[in-house]
Amino acid sequence: MGGTDIPTRTTRRPVDSLKILQCDVCVVGSGAAGLSAALEAARAGKRVILVEAAQSLGGQAVNSIIGTFCGLYSNGPDVTRLTYGVADDILRHLHADSAAQDRSARNSIIVQYDEIALARWIDNAVRDAGITVLLGAVVRNAHLSGRRIAALDIATKFGDLSVEADGFVDASGDATVAWHAGLTVREPETPIFGTQIVLFENFDEAAANAVDRWEMQGRLTNRADHYGLVRKDGFVFSFPGHGTALANMTHVETPLDAADYANTVFDGRDQADRLLRFLRDEYPAAYGNARIRIYAAPGVRQTRWITGTYSLTAEDVRAGRIFDDTVARCSWPIELHNNAAGAYWEELGDNHVHTVPLGSLLHRDADNLAAAGRCIDGDTVGLSSVRVMGPCLAMGAAAAHALILAGSGSVHQIDIGALRKKISDNLDRNDPYRA
Ligand SMILES: Cc1cc2nc3c(=O)[nH]c(=O)nc-3n(C[C@H](O)[C@H](O)[C@H](O)COP(=O)(O)OP(=O)(O)OC[C@H]3O[C@@H](n4cnc5c(N)ncnc54)[C@H](O)[C@@H]3O)c2cc1C
Repeated sequence: MGGTDIPTRTTRRPVDSLKILQCDVCVVGSGAAGLSAALEAARAGKRVILVEAAQSLGGQAVNSIIGTFCGLYSNGPDVTRLTYGVADDILRHLHADSAAQDRSARNSIIVQYDEIALARWIDNAVRDAGITVLLGAVVRNAHLSGRRIAALDIATKFGDLSVEADGFVDASGDATVAWHAGLTVREPETPIFGTQIVLFENFDEAAANAVDRWEMQGRLTNRADHYGLVRKDGFVFSFPGHGTALANMTHVETPLDAADYANTVFDGRDQADRLLRFLRDEYPAAYGNARIRIYAAPGVRQTRWITGTYSLTAEDVRAGRIFDDTVARCSWPIELHNNAAGAYWEELGDNHVHTVPLGSLLHRDADNLAAAGRCIDGDTVGLSSVRVMGPCLAMGAAAAHALILAGSGSVHQIDIGALRKKISDNLDRNDPYRA
């Protein structure tokens, strides 16, 4: 034991205290897309720095308690897996730990997961891969030299950092690298709503499971105004045996401004409190004693994204278009949250598959930048499908390998055949689904 006589020293910040870090691939954002990019690059032997503004890894998958992996499987009736790589490791680990459960939904299979088990898997996977992680590290500027991002300025509560890299993955969800580099980006003219997800506890699981989902939707539609609820649809489901139920039944605007964002947090929590009153009053056997255990970080759907060399369209999604430079596959419906009162769903038919091209990941004016996840280029409708986590994982892998193939050259000039080989499972493998 150290005893109680603890020496101290007097010090002050050195005049030139900027720390410069260097790597091969710098990934901004540690959600499904960034995590996949960082792990793929590290496993390919590259020096990787993962920059995350939050205090823990996992992006929305962990911190917004999204609750299910969608888009990993094709539509039925012949359901097959569409995304592999890091997804394999996650599914294997979570299933072995009883922390994941497959469910039939939207003519496909979705995987419900325990966010705490996922968070710990991510911590360990990133550490084991030798990735340098910067937590609480906010990208606040990007230096563009010609068509290359040279360095990122990063603020942390411990001081400023600069990160230099051959290639950068923008998996920030908000195209933060492109934005700070002064590159063009797209934003929706009218809001795409986010959701304040909450976890309930102290409810009766058996009674809750007996509530018909569509009856609840109908009652919510009729009674929302009475409870002061903005959104009139959504769903609540329990994780069997975990004592929690997740509700995705609110809508909030998700502005890109710090003070306005704080109001989003408060509005979302207020809506969640109203939702609890609705559930307690309308379904007393199931939720009469329910409490909110966690208000997750606000779930943000679509805010700002890059201008790529290709913008994925609603028509591409509906038609199941396969591109010459396809890098990810998906069957998830169009799921557009542009109406405060409810979401627009458009399922895409039996055995449907659509894809994401590399062109949607590559900013048209940068040679060493690849976006992945919800900030790739598409129209609002196209993006509303491919932003789910299955394709986000596949896009992360593609972004990493595209930048590695480019090295000090241009990501726009890589050999697409070589990229296809690196990510071939995500393009061609179709393991039939087995429960
Ligand atoms: C309410 C809701 C429910 C959803 N339900 C589902 C579902 O059931 N299944 C499903 O598969 N998908 C679902 N989605 C979609 C899916 O969750 C997201 O689109 C997906 O998680 C996005 O992953 P990402 O890696 O692109 O970004 P994110 O997970 O958003 O990660 C981006 C990361 O970048 C970091 N970052 C941002 N700016 C900076 C900066 N300047 N500096 C450093 N770091 C920064 C953020 O802190 C964050 O951790 C849902 C989305 C919402 C909002």
